[in-house]
Amino acid sequence: MLKNNFENQEGILSIGGVSVEDLADKYQTPLYIYDQKLLKETIETFIGNFKSQVFDTEVVYATKAFSNLYVLGLMKGYDMYFDCVSKEEIFVALSAGVEAQRIHFHGNNKTREELSYAVDKEIGLIIIDSLDEYHLLDELLAEKNKKVDALLRINPDVKTDTHKFIQTSNADSKFGVNIRDGAMRDLIGEIVGNPRINLLGFHAHIGSQVKNAGFFEEEASILLDFTRQMEKAFNYKFTHINFGGGFGSKESIEDEDLDLGEFLRNFVKVIENLISKHDLAITNVGIEPGRSMISKAGSILYRVGSRKKTLEGLPLVFVDGGMSDNIRPSLYGAKYSAIIANKLNEETTKAYRVGGKLCESGDILVEDVKLPSPERDDLLLIPYAGAYTYSMSSNYNKLPRPAVVFVEDGRDYLAVKRQSFKDLIINDVKFEEK
Ligand SMILES: *Cc1c(COP(=O)(O)O)cnc(C)c1O
Repeated sequence: MLKNNFENQEGILSIGGVSVEDLADKYQTPLYIYDQKLLKETIETFIGNFKSQVFDTEVVYATKAFSNLYVLGLMKGYDMYFDCVSKEEIFVALSAGVEAQRIHFHGNNKTREELSYAVDKEIGLIIIDSLDEYHLLDELLAEKNKKVDALLRINPDVKTDTHKFIQTSNADSKFGVNIRDGAMRDLIGEIVGNPRINLLGFHAHIGSQVKNAGFFEEEASILLDFTRQMEKAFNYKFTHINFGGGFGSKESIEDEDLDLGEFLRNFVKVIENLISKHDLAITNVGIEPGRSMISKAGSILYRVGSRKKTLEGLPLVFVDGGMSDNIRPSLYGAKYSAIIANKLNEETTKAYRVGGKLCESGDILVEDVKLPSPERDDLLLIPYAGAYTYSMSSNYNKLPRPAVVFVEDGRDYLAVKRQSFKDLIINDVKFEEK
């Protein structure tokens, strides 16, 4: 099982052999801390277990979960692919030195500029999301006299048991074309006959934070059965399939953990059996982990400020960040836990609410957590918070985006600097009386 490299050094937490007190002093708080060794082990677990004798496999990291030059630079050292959902994400991946052919382009409303950029940069794969987008892409390719490889995103109608905002596969979803939509066959027929678009196969992504492996098996079964039907309908061999991401990952200390390696090995077997059952020509199978790749390795470190008792509810302990560095609890009720990182040896008896410092009532990071009585200047750490936190961060209340640091074997590596006063007004234009 993949584990954080946390250690208790006389009551003080160290991550990757570096004391969080030292990190807080050096980089200020809030601070995103990534356990580099755990990230490497997670990558190796994906690549080592999502493997088959029957087909080639691709592990495609969904960069929207967390992307910058450092983390993509680290990942590109492995046999990985990268999924981007905007031309800006493509730009960041290319700037990190990722090969264009290893980039896949997703999104439900890719603009003309974005598609044009992706085609000019000759990225590896475009995942077509709608009929409209198909026409736009076709037009562009004709103008540029270029060809692309593509997948078509299918919405397989698999209803997962997670929050509505992170489900993507309902019949009213804004993503993909629904598998029961009759117009889809016409679209597939058209793409298959288009010499500028090489339709390799189909793609689906059923949601996020899905912990029940059964949903992925259902997805695979539906999508491969569909591939078989389309093979027959168009007398065409599809070689690729991609099942998206959404694999669950623990976010609170109490959460049960998915055994990633075991899950992946079983999933491969299920896919192998289905491919053989339908006698498909599939030679390449992809998955797109985002959260499950990066979430566990990342923690957010805060400093405790004021405390407050309210007439009702648990007493509040405030930290020097909040929804500007982790909006997920306020946005869709994500549940994290917390520890006082400089009081590991003290008993945790009382329950608290951990509140942020932003001017919103909903800015509560943890609703209910037992802590050893927190005092001003203590260090509070929220573990398993590496995904969709920095990447959803904002400058609300003009708070600077915190620094990001990676730690391993007693050393720390700055990955993203903390924003300065100047960064906050760098794009502003001063008013001048005319
Ligand atoms: C967001 C996204 C992913 C990653 O989802 P996780 O829940 O982070 O694993 C994968 N594929 C597509 C198309 C996505 O939009």
